[in-house]
Amino acid sequence: MSGSHDDGAPAALSAALDGCEGDPICDRCPKPADYFLYEPGRVETFVCWEHVSPVSAAVDDPADAHPGRPLALSL
Ligand SMILES: [Zn+2]
Repeated sequence: MSGSHDDGAPAALSAALDGCEGDPICDRCPKPADYFLYEPGRVETFVCWEHVSPVSAAVDDPADAHPGRPLALSL
């Protein structure tokens, strides 16, 4: 079954959390991350609330995410 394109986000998030020691940090600055930015095959990174804005991510709304607009899962 491959009808849904957003199944990978929770799995990618838990894998990313496993990969970091302690609390995740923003990829663009030293602040604690507030979101996990995810676009299948392109983006898998943590960002703070300031740095989630510039990418026009679909915050907690998988249905609104599409290529070029990553999904942002709040942590
Ligand atoms: Zn940041």
